Amino acid sequence: MKIYECILPYCRAEVYDRNACCEDCWQDRRGQLASLPELYVMTYAMLTPGSRQQDIETIHVGSIDPAAPLNLVALDSLTYSYQRLAAWAMWVCRPHKLQLHAYTTGRGFLMVCRALYVHDSRLGRTDDAGQYCLDVWTAYRRLLVQVVPIEPRHLEVDCPECSSRTVYTRHADEYALCANCRTTWAHSQMPKLRQAQRTAAR
Ligand SMILES: [Zn+2]
Ligand SMILES: [Zn+2]
Repeated sequence: MKIYECILPYCRAEVYDRNACCEDCWQDRRGQLASLPELYVMTYAMLTPGSRQQDIETIHVGSIDPAAPLNLVALDSLTYSYQRLAAWAMWVCRPHKLQLHAYTTGRGFLMVCRALYVHDSRLGRTDDAGQYCLDVWTAYRRLLVQVVPIEPRHLEVDCPECSSRTVYTRHADEYALCANCRTTWAHSQMPKLRQAQRTAAR
């Protein structure tokens, strides 16, 4: 049987289909789905000076002041995330169950994330699981880098390959890299990296 690498960035786990994702990356998507509504609001707040962050339960996306300088990268990221995830949510829920036109974009995005969080396990059994997982990851990353610092962060773990305490996460935890032996770990492998350290410390 032919072996491929997981479709997610920096992940070299073996999978049996081209464009499939590994089990770790599949599980990892849930944390991203849970964070996406808040990231959406925070990114929206980056669009215009003076806009205010609001509770996601009461988010209302108003019109943008045409005179204000606009962060187009943030706007593109919001649009991309909404369109991609809405398409998957429609697939999962059937359009008549998810009446997105009845909501503002911000509220609609919240509904989309909730629908996927509850129902997306249906996608896990299809050939589209890898592409879906990659789309969630891409939306998550695009919003995340708008709102958090992206400097390298030192992980307090010994490298499992070379035992050197030189493992850093890069680009807001997009992946981890050992500065000594250059081994990399995908985002979905970081919990295991930390877990291995705790087990070894006992
Ligand atoms: Zn993977
Ligand atoms: Zn190392």
